[in-house]
Amino acid sequence: MVNELQDLDFSGYSVSRSLKTTLRELPPYAALEDVEFLATELGLSPSSVIKVDGNENPYGPSNATLRALESLNRMKLHHYGDSDQRRLRLAIAEHLSVGFDSVICGNGSDELIDLMFRLFINEGDNIVISSPTFGMYSFDASLHGANVIDVPLGEGWEFDEESLEKAARNAKLVFIPSPNNPTGNMIPMRLVKRLLETGAVVVIDEAYIEFSDTASLATWVEKIPNLVVLRTFSKWGGLAGLRIGYGIMHPELVSICLQAKQPYNISVVAEAAALAALADSATLDARAEIISTERDRMSAELAKTEWMNPWPSNASFVLFHLDGISGLGLRDKLRLKGIFTRYIAHPRLENHLRISIATPDENDRIIEAIREIESE
Ligand code: PMP
Repeated sequence: MVNELQDLDFSGYSVSRSLKTTLRELPPYAALEDVEFLATELGLSPSSVIKVDGNENPYGPSNATLRALESLNRMKLHHYGDSDQRRLRLAIAEHLSVGFDSVICGNGSDELIDLMFRLFINEGDNIVISSPTFGMYSFDASLHGANVIDVPLGEGWEFDEESLEKAARNAKLVFIPSPNNPTGNMIPMRLVKRLLETGAVVVIDEAYIEFSDTASLATWVEKIPNLVVLRTFSKWGGLAGLRIGYGIMHPELVSICLQAKQPYNISVVAEAAALAALADSATLDARAEIISTERDRMSAELAKTEWMNPWPSNASFVLFHLDGISGLGLRDKLRLKGIFTRYIAHPRLENHLRISIATPDENDRIIEAIREIESE
């Protein structure tokens, strides 16, 4: 049988010839380096590394979540989950005091970002972002053939409200994280209002909202049909590896999403973990509170170096502007000490480094390592 294939000659064949025309070039996305591979490459033991490159929750899942996973009925694993995600959508709706029919869950909020493109973007349509920002929006834009209108943040990372409103008038989608990743600032409410008035679908990505003092926009979606709010269990819930996020949006759009998404996009394991996380929200809120307090302590401590200047942050990370050393330079020095931070390859961030907030003990070790580097 196999011999029949022996005469085939595919020299000169490239599958890229058949790629869809919108995929003119493959989009760059700098995903995190795997911690085990990176540590091994550097001759470090993976368990000794302090991982502050991915804005993950340093405490991981709550004990109640772990217990729920351990006791997950094994009989469930060979069945598909509920494609309508009813249990989880109901629990999220109660958690946020919104209607059940305003909630949709995704395989990470990343999946819901992609879904917005799949639903709204024809080749050549515009989307609006304000850079520097989360890379996923431009990544998906390249995949789906959308033009990115970038209205860059100002010198102090403030939004250019006039230009954003103008750009939104000619766009299908606007993506703004609030707090923004990596700068840590929030979108002003008056700008949200201006953007919504343009009629574009405005996606406010609240991945880090639990670390801020600002209320979510989730409760507005029934009244405002072009507002989409994205949230995730990756940061607050400590479940980044399980890939579970959610969106709150007008019921009409939720119905469309339910129809268009992959039917079983939420694994039964992720569903069980997310339900347990919501049932244990007091623990997770208390941890978020500690992370926010630690963020302010880290900012204040590292500002004492005088060459690390923290931007004010409402999230679970801090972006530092560096004097006298590049972002890559400091990242590499810290790497050798087993501390993995995030350098973001962006023309305006060459002298910057983003550090996620870890546990108080780990944060002490980071401060100590930076003081060592200072005295080297
Ligand atoms: N939005 C923002 C602003 C993020 O920083 C991230 C994660 N880095 C995400 C969304 C993706 O989250 P998830 O793990 O839910 O896909």
